Amino acid sequence: MRCPFCQNPTTCVVDSRAPDTGAIIRRRRQCPACGKRFTTFERVYLALPYIVKKGGGRVEYDREKLRSSMLIALRKRPVSPDRLDEAVDRIEQKMMLSGEREIRSSRVGELVLEALRDLDTIAYIRFASVYFNINDPEAFAEMIERAARDRADRRKAAEGDVFSVKDDEAVE
Ligand SMILES: [Zn+2]
Repeated sequence: MRCPFCQNPTTCVVDSRAPDTGAIIRRRRQCPACGKRFTTFERVYLALPYIVKKGGGRVEYDREKLRSSMLIALRKRPVSPDRLDEAVDRIEQKMMLSGEREIRSSRVGELVLEALRDLDTIAYIRFASVYFNINDPEAFAEMIERAARDRADRRKAAEGDVFSVKDDEAVE
């Protein structure tokens, strides 16, 4: 790292501190030429992949665009902006961890569907009806039924987890 005071091309790390939480590492550096000290913060940066559209075009990922498409589905639903932002964070995390430089827009749609399914069933149904281009009442009713069944199943599974923990404790 170049010294910000005298532009000397190298500086030495005199102290390095990794925090318990978060991914930012604080480094104390000293310039061997001018002797001045300064602090740098280092964080992991993973690039988000490009979005490949259905027609084959490539566009840069746009967090605001993704967020606002979810916001439309969540209109008047009891989900706080914080929870929405966390959901967007998790979607981005999944996109980054794929390690791919490109991701199909349909895959992004699936990630949004998964996130909305966990956030709010009504928002999920709204988004899914547009995403799957559902335009007849029967298909729509079927989708709602499936979403409701899905939610009941997941709720049951979650309860099952709680009970199995209790059972383990009872054994001990
Ligand atoms: Zn210097």
